[in-house]
Amino acid sequence: AKANGRNGCRYYNPALTAEAVHRVELEAGLRRALAHDELVLMYQPQVEVRDGSIATVEALVRWQTPDGRLVPPLEFIPFAEECGLIDAIGSWVLRRACHDAAQWQRRGLDLRVAVNLSPVQFRASGLLDRIREALADSDLPAERLELEITESALMADDADTHATLAALRTLGIGIALDDFGTGYSSLSCLKRLPLDKLKIDRSFVSGLPDDVDNHAIVRAIVALARHLGFRIAAEGVETAAQAELLGELEADSLQGYLFSRAVPAAELEALASRRWPP
Ligand code: C2E
Ligand code: CA
Ligand code: CA
Ligand code: CA
Repeated sequence: AKANGRNGCRYYNPALTAEAVHRVELEAGLRRALAHDELVLMYQPQVEVRDGSIATVEALVRWQTPDGRLVPPLEFIPFAEECGLIDAIGSWVLRRACHDAAQWQRRGLDLRVAVNLSPVQFRASGLLDRIREALADSDLPAERLELEITESALMADDADTHATLAALRTLGIGIALDDFGTGYSSLSCLKRLPLDKLKIDRSFVSGLPDDVDNHAIVRAIVALARHLGFRIAAEGVETAAQAELLGELEADSLQGYLFSRAVPAAELEALASRRWPP
């Protein structure tokens, strides 16, 4: 390696080179995925505590590579956010989710679809037009769409955030605050945001029912959300004991492997017409 002052091998560090090669390959792969329709959406139900029915399903993206691998989103979404491909991926996700939801509606399924929106997408200037277009092209009523936005996207407590959220809600779209409790949202800021739902992060659910700290945190989140008039969903529900406790704490809906993993659109139709025992 070429010596380069005090830091030594700046230009020929093999680890850096491997990382750079990986990034170039990943970016090329993602462009190909978009061009060749290699992305797929899976849907995970949210079960209503009230009656065991499914009112909402969350769209979760995967990348089906030509060699048959199903790449999970955490292996490419953060990278797509960095390299600027998240807009294209996000648009694809939005359009596909609206299309699938419109199809379910035509078949008589009363479902709302929840789509994850990256902070980068939330800040992009064309967001509202893009959403209106996706709804219009698929013929999906806005009331059937919910957007999941993380705290980090919203907690820049500025006029733009409020204007965007207000415009989305005026259209009739639901807004859920995702991964609640993992960011550092100021509670006074939460009070002013026009939201419909808080999703309690999986990390708080995982220790239940035994973890007394998580128990206290979930109880506090539910009380806060109630007070502010938001609905409460809990994610990462894996055991019957967790579901029971969350029901007692008066969460409105539960999502997790106890009920179902994310499934392809075709399988969802059978799943969505069943009811879980209360
Ligand atoms: P998330 O929005 O918090 O989604 C929930 C994740 O938890 C999903 O992982 C889901 O499969 C997983 N999960 C659900 N139930 C359980 C459970 O009972 N136990 C455990 N251990 N995990 C459970 P997935 O599909 O791998 O997605 C990971 C993250 O990738 C998502 O977290 C979301 O932040 C992001 N993501 C997924 N799809 C999209 C998308 O279309 N757009 C954007 N921007 N991000 C997406
Ligand atoms: Ca989510
Ligand atoms: Ca989440
Ligand atoms: Ca999460």
